[in-house]
Amino acid sequence: MRFRGLMMGRVLVGIDLGGTNVRIGIITPTGRILKKEEYALDPSQGGLKIVEELVSNLKNILRKRIGRSNQLLGIGIGIAGAIDMKRGRMVLSPNIPGLNGFGIREFIKKRISSPLAIENDANAFALGEGWVGAAKGSNDYCGITLGTGVGGGIVINGEILHGSRGMASEVGHMVIDPEGPLCGCGGKGCLEVYASATGIRRMALEAIEKGEGGEILKRAGGKVEEVTSEKVFEAARSGDKAAQKIFNEMGRFLGLGLVNVIHLFDPEKIVIGGKASRAWDFFIKATLGVVMERAIEGSREKVTIVRAKCGDDAGILGAAYVSLKSLGH
Ligand SMILES: [Zn+2]
Repeated sequence: MRFRGLMMGRVLVGIDLGGTNVRIGIITPTGRILKKEEYALDPSQGGLKIVEELVSNLKNILRKRIGRSNQLLGIGIGIAGAIDMKRGRMVLSPNIPGLNGFGIREFIKKRISSPLAIENDANAFALGEGWVGAAKGSNDYCGITLGTGVGGGIVINGEILHGSRGMASEVGHMVIDPEGPLCGCGGKGCLEVYASATGIRRMALEAIEKGEGGEILKRAGGKVEEVTSEKVFEAARSGDKAAQKIFNEMGRFLGLGLVNVIHLFDPEKIVIGGKASRAWDFFIKATLGVVMERAIEGSREKVTIVRAKCGDDAGILGAAYVSLKSLGH
């Protein structure tokens, strides 16, 4: 109870800097979200403009929302891309090219006086789910987000696996089929081309070309360019066999990816989130089927594969958790 008394009125700020929007949350040291704000981000802007805008919005929120009644413990930011954790610099930022090479930590620290921690966004997702979500209580687990791409965060003994240059746990770029479709990374047949929203759309377009995706096309107003993973999901829910087949296919490929993750890291849990995971009921059976069939005995019985619990808040929660951890709590 002493801990709780000490923490009264103390807050963290968790920021999820995504490719198209920025979410900022004021969060208690126990993982309760007090306030949330969001603004749109234009990823084609230069890094300086993006970070200046972030600092200005952040200053506003600190003044308006935290004021004198609360004490800011620290700020955490989850950013899409690879981060040089020692220097606090972006190494590679494919979704926000302007941030490539940007020394984001130093820049913000010079302008806002608060402890600041940064982390990759998929790692923040995994940590958020571990703190207050579906992986709460697990020390060895993996978080996978099925969004526009496929991201992952691997937690070993309570710590994120960063690798030698901050580029570890790119589960989305595991090669599933060496002759598969082209991936945004330049490779072929990565998990991402099957298990992301983009992958679902690609499979839908292929089905339409073969004359099987009539219902999906109808839901997209007859326009191929309006076909999205959401339309495929809607079609699957209405009972359309072609859409259900796409999710079944996606589920099988995701299962192959999970088999690799299980064999490499022996996690006790795998948490799956992201917008494409909304179609859970349509793909998970195929995923679990592949895991039971392909993962070696002994590992497959131990791992539980669960749906994420924090929704869109996992990123801000994980970022706040990174900040809390960096303070030694
Ligand atoms: Zn790839």
